[in-house]
Amino acid sequence: MIKSITLLKDNSEINLEFIKTHAHKVEIDSSFMNDLSITIQIEFKIPIIQFRSHGYTWKSLEQTELSNWYAPKILRLNNNQLVQANQHIGIWEVNKKNSRILNWHFNLENANPLVEYGFNNSKQIVQAVSKHRLLSPLALLFPIESSIEISRSKIPFSAIACFTDHCDFDTLINLKQQRQFFKTYNIKITKGFFLNHFSKRSDTACFEIHNQEISAWQDDDHELAYHSLSQSIKPLDESLNDFESFAPPFKGISTWIDHGFQPYNVSLYKNFDRISNHYGSSLKNNGINTFWNYTDSGTAVKGVINQLNPNQFTLHSFYNGIKHLKLKEQIPMFIKNVVFHYYNTEYSLRIYRDVAKYFKNIKHKKSINSHLRVLVVMFKLIKLLIPILLFWKTRKNQVYPLARYNPVIFNQDILNDTFTVFQTIEMIDFKLGLNQNNIDLLIKENGLFIAHTYFSAPLNYHHGKLFEKSNEIDKQVEENFSYLSHKIASKDIWNPTLKELIVHLQSFAMVTFECNELGEMLIIDKNQLAYRKVQ
Ligand SMILES: [Zn+2]
Repeated sequence: MIKSITLLKDNSEINLEFIKTHAHKVEIDSSFMNDLSITIQIEFKIPIIQFRSHGYTWKSLEQTELSNWYAPKILRLNNNQLVQANQHIGIWEVNKKNSRILNWHFNLENANPLVEYGFNNSKQIVQAVSKHRLLSPLALLFPIESSIEISRSKIPFSAIACFTDHCDFDTLINLKQQRQFFKTYNIKITKGFFLNHFSKRSDTACFEIHNQEISAWQDDDHELAYHSLSQSIKPLDESLNDFESFAPPFKGISTWIDHGFQPYNVSLYKNFDRISNHYGSSLKNNGINTFWNYTDSGTAVKGVINQLNPNQFTLHSFYNGIKHLKLKEQIPMFIKNVVFHYYNTEYSLRIYRDVAKYFKNIKHKKSINSHLRVLVVMFKLIKLLIPILLFWKTRKNQVYPLARYNPVIFNQDILNDTFTVFQTIEMIDFKLGLNQNNIDLLIKENGLFIAHTYFSAPLNYHHGKLFEKSNEIDKQVEENFSYLSHKIASKDIWNPTLKELIVHLQSFAMVTFECNELGEMLIIDKNQLAYRKVQ
């Protein structure tokens, strides 16, 4: 059934050997798997007609279809023969234009993106580096009757809702209110906290002062995560001292969420020789094995919620999710989305920052120079928008660069230590992002989100906050969480902490499949995850 297998690497093509173990298994030479960025191109003699989606449904081949590591890797040929990968690793890509071809990609550009900041806080996207972890040589399996798919969720084939909260605005009072709120609705979150007291605001909560309340979150079965080490930035030496001397307040805190422009952030440490050589081992010695570093797939609005579905991360989807708002709300949201997600370049971000800074301080601006400067920057911003508006028909459906493959979690090696990186969807407005239709959509698509939230945000320009007035929970937002709570209770949605989710997904990634000489599928899975047959 296979015509040829080719290795594509650095613009070269090498024919690969493949061994037909028996009628139902073809093993691919995998000796090259130490090379970081490669594609294995498999040409079938018969066209592919269907593809198993990330939502566990059959899709006919209409456009480019992708299957990242967390989705089934199963397709159907025109003679009704099913084809399945023997492991979840890598990304499958098929395309109607070339329906005999299956591309199996490893470490594509932007498949595992990380953010790094330079000295002047200039942002660049780099690619995570980690060795491929093959469980056995790559193989394609050709079962007689049925394939097998494994559940990503602990609740078989349900959706997944996970919250990771940034504590930037937490105070003792609103921490207690948040904890009570989540207790009422039986929702678990991963709660960021500041270890040290250092803040421009006197009421910022931190472990140093509010250890009782922060410990109570753990007692309520939430996960605690470091949100760097303090709210505001100390002089450099003191900051680096903080990093070199910090000790875990509890056992088992394994997640780190970058905050502000702290010099010891994962996205910044390389700029500082004093910590760069032992950065990874310092995190590991303190029990940290997971981090977030500023990669959002997009912003949750109506119809944008499922991180596994790249089609939700386009300007068109975003526009549809905000078009019911007033124009004066729509325009800044749309521009922000264009800058942060559609372009996501240092150039676009700098322009946005300059314009935002001008309008933030508009009351204090007197000099003609500052008005002239902003005119130039506004002109540059408009220049970014013009091609989108002119070519809206084609541009509107382009998936944002960091959402095309949406790996959700992936590995990054820092010297000899391997870390798990997680990506998020920004969820600021819980009226738009967590509305009941979105929760239904997530369930329908068997989707997943890891939300990047600020539950205690008090800022006037944030709409749909948990606390609409100071210390008072918003009624509509509460209704949305109540709806979510019902769906968690009815087991339509699994609501793990980040740590629970990662442990489960790592087990998922370790599953392998076999097909015996009789064409029967077998699973090799010591964790006994939920599975089902696919025909
Ligand atoms: Zn923060």
